[in-house]
Amino acid sequence: MFDTGEIDKFEDAAGVAAFIDRLRGLDRHVDNGTRIDMTRLLEEVKAAATAAQAKYAADFETARLAQRAALGVPKSQQSRGIASEIALARRDSPKRGDRHLGFAKALVHDMPHTLNLLERGLLNEWRATILVRETVCLNREDRTGIDADLCSDPATLDGLGDKALEAKVREHAAARDAEAMVKRARKAKEDRRVTTRPAPDTMAYVNALLPVDQAVAIQAILGRDADSIRATGDERTRSQIMADLLVERITGISTAVGPPITVNLVISDQSLFGDGTEPAHVKGYGPIPAGLARHWVKRATSKEESAARLQLRKLYANRDTGALTAMESKSRCFPTSLARFIDTRDRFCRTPWCDAPIRHRDHIVDHHNGGPTDANNGAGLCEACNHAKQGEGWRSQPDKQQPGERHSYRFTTPTGHEYRSEAPPMPTPLEVYMPAERWLQTILYEAV
Ligand SMILES: [Zn+2]
Repeated sequence: MFDTGEIDKFEDAAGVAAFIDRLRGLDRHVDNGTRIDMTRLLEEVKAAATAAQAKYAADFETARLAQRAALGVPKSQQSRGIASEIALARRDSPKRGDRHLGFAKALVHDMPHTLNLLERGLLNEWRATILVRETVCLNREDRTGIDADLCSDPATLDGLGDKALEAKVREHAAARDAEAMVKRARKAKEDRRVTTRPAPDTMAYVNALLPVDQAVAIQAILGRDADSIRATGDERTRSQIMADLLVERITGISTAVGPPITVNLVISDQSLFGDGTEPAHVKGYGPIPAGLARHWVKRATSKEESAARLQLRKLYANRDTGALTAMESKSRCFPTSLARFIDTRDRFCRTPWCDAPIRHRDHIVDHHNGGPTDANNGAGLCEACNHAKQGEGWRSQPDKQQPGERHSYRFTTPTGHEYRSEAPPMPTPLEVYMPAERWLQTILYEAV
């Protein structure tokens, strides 16, 4: 990817690489005063590195856009994949790549004083982010003005906490353009959404970003009703009742019964039918303990109406490598079963460092370039990565697959940097007892 031969060609890169080496070998046998001095200096190094990355990112975008314009790429397609290239270089998700690029452009093009404080190590990355974020709704003139007001003299922000800094920027923004602040509030409403993310101990957060009046109403109604239920002698805590009410009102199903199994679960035979401890995998969530998965399946099969809805499908995986090798399919519709195979095999977007849900089953080599519609030439990608891949200068190629190997492919960005993506391993039982003819394969079950 970034081989040192490449880096040595550039004096700056060699200097930075040597500096990283130096940091690793810093003398720790020093007095406490030196430790504190070094802590301050290293904080300044991080800020200065942020500024340098911002300058490279903004320049990278400018150069890439100019190059694509010269090639005659339509304007609507010129920016494809630029943020993803930055994200890959930073070993970060494309979504963050987008933010990094936006931050860099704001600093380099509109906020030179903020950039200067970062370069000098006098402002850290988070505080610079606050300055960029809180001025995003303003026109260029006002943004540049606030940049000069607050950052031309380092003493202006010295000693302010993050919240105080945020308040100060908002105050200046409102003074310059009250209308923009109102517009921003209106625009924020367009961003309302519901998202889910895993929490520890097989719990998950459901986050709803809502206008403040609606959010307050939900909280108040759940609290009020929980109080009246508790008044009847219910022994659950107020928080527990509020959470149960939320589920009941949204799913229409009482939490005492539990929702039917509509989650996609992949589990090994040992874990499902025996007392195996290999975790099961829930699509879109991740691993859960085998015992909990068994409990879910048992609960679903013990109720008549949901038993009809619980289907188990056999999957076969290589137990040495964890490669998904085959899936039993009753569906005669080839694309549907292929999509299911890819979703099960890949779990999340296959781009390194991106763990967004799969939205597209992508041809690794495009269909119009002769890429076949099969599992080896298919990869699950999120929306952003699928979009980036279509950018001018991106290429990808599946690896030559040996039998039983986990699926992998390589892609090359327009700068020639190559990245490799390998499918995650399937769950395998810890103790394996199998008839001889199936010795290579472990059986998994998917509850759908
Ligand atoms: Zn992705």
